[in-house]
Amino acid sequence: MDATADPHPAVPLRAAGGAVRVALYFFLIVFALLLLIWVRPHTGDGLIHQLGKNCGLVAFVILALQAVLAARPKWVERPFGLDMVFRFHKAAGATALGLLLLHVTLVAWGSHHWQLLTALAIRWPVWLGRVALLALAVNVTASLWRRKLRIEFERWRRWHNLLGVLIITFGFVHSFVLGGDLQAPAMRVYCVAALGAVAAVYLWHKILRPRRLRRRPYTVSAVRREAPRVWTIELAPSSGERVFLYAPGQFHYVTFRRGRGLPVEEHHWTISSTPTRPGLASTIKEVGDFTSTIGQTRVGDRAEVDGAYGRFSYLFYPDEDDLLFVAGGIGITPFLAMLRHMHDTGADKKVLLLWSNRSEQDLVARQELDQIAASGRPQLKVVHFLTRPGEDWHGERGRMGAEVLARYLAPPAAGTRGAYVCCPPPMARDVIRSLGKLGLPARRIHEEGFAL
Ligand SMILES: Cc1cc2nc3c(=O)[nH]c(=O)nc-3n(C[C@H](O)[C@H](O)[C@H](O)COP(=O)(O)OP(=O)(O)OC[C@H]3O[C@@H](n4cnc5c(N)ncnc54)[C@H](O)[C@@H]3O)c2cc1C
Repeated sequence: MDATADPHPAVPLRAAGGAVRVALYFFLIVFALLLLIWVRPHTGDGLIHQLGKNCGLVAFVILALQAVLAARPKWVERPFGLDMVFRFHKAAGATALGLLLLHVTLVAWGSHHWQLLTALAIRWPVWLGRVALLALAVNVTASLWRRKLRIEFERWRRWHNLLGVLIITFGFVHSFVLGGDLQAPAMRVYCVAALGAVAAVYLWHKILRPRRLRRRPYTVSAVRREAPRVWTIELAPSSGERVFLYAPGQFHYVTFRRGRGLPVEEHHWTISSTPTRPGLASTIKEVGDFTSTIGQTRVGDRAEVDGAYGRFSYLFYPDEDDLLFVAGGIGITPFLAMLRHMHDTGADKKVLLLWSNRSEQDLVARQELDQIAASGRPQLKVVHFLTRPGEDWHGERGRMGAEVLARYLAPPAAGTRGAYVCCPPPMARDVIRSLGKLGLPARRIHEEGFAL
């Protein structure tokens, strides 16, 4: 393919503004508290009661901001990467739950009204608050332990969204009707504005953006089997449209619309193609319900594509020039994108790729990697590790342990060393721990997990 056929302008790479976004997040919380202190009507509540109410207000603002984070706006995710945003979203949900438990306890304690916690015959807005709290507890528990609880992803997502809407709505009505503090007009304006912002973001995330993506569908232009259970799907934008800007190693959300009774679900995959070439591609392994149908995708099928997300790209860390890539199985995809990009742009990088697979059959794009290594652009060395090698295998065998990494990292780095890790979680943990022990600073270790 002609490397210069469709050169895309560079994706914005600078992560400027991360601190501003964090500051804005906390400002919105602190502002609500300051406003409350400023306008608080004289309610005669004691300190404990007031503290309880403050906890409720902070929890409400956090929950409103949860909707913004979940909508994955690019201006929020760009400096951090979506994985970090979603980790923060999880932690914030748990924090809101803790604050609401404090809220009910302190309000009941401060008002000497313990029936608030236990009585069945109680005003309906209290019941709304209870239901919201219960729903939040369910949502947080299911999100933190979804895999352990064996909750299927699509079902979890449906319920998570539904309960999210219920929590915010019930919480809002509860506070509006019961909250003495919220009688002050300024507080009412703040809370209504927060709810309005949530509704607007929700509308954009669930209705407007999907509609915009549907209006500019991509078309499947090639379907290739790469290994027994691995497929590459190539996508071309609608005529007259350009592919969105992306850095090699980033990922996108794709919703295939294939008809023929095949499922319609939004999934995220790394963009295994490079922005130096036309179109988009993803290399997808059959691992579950949806991906087991990926081989049934046909040329001409439609797809809605939303991207690009993530910060797992060597372009984001231009000062690193001696790179270690550690891949496990299908975790090779971001490295394929980066190596293709380095090759096309003649990047002056030294790369050691350590790639663990079960057997030789599982290797994807092996010849292409050999060709890139032979070209010298970049200076690439590929080392394969097989856990179930055939008898005629002469390469590395077994798992990639600490001593293996030490052996390969022994030569001093030719410049600033950076390590990129994309493999199953237990392997990633071991590798990252070993790299730390070998003296690589945490800020030089970049990880992509294949679960958000
Ligand atoms: C940043 C990133 C990049 C990825 N890149 C690749 C890639 O290049 N190639 C590749 O083969 N895989 C990649 N994955 C993994 C891929 O997203 C999952 O394998 C796929 O979604 C599983 O779908 P399933 O229904 O077939 O599997 P299931 O067995 O049903 O699900 C397995 C797990 O995948 C996740 N998952 C399932 N459905 C969804 C969904 N609709 N949306 C989001 N997550 C879901 C859940 O964590 C679930 O526990 C990537 C994941 C992430 C987070």
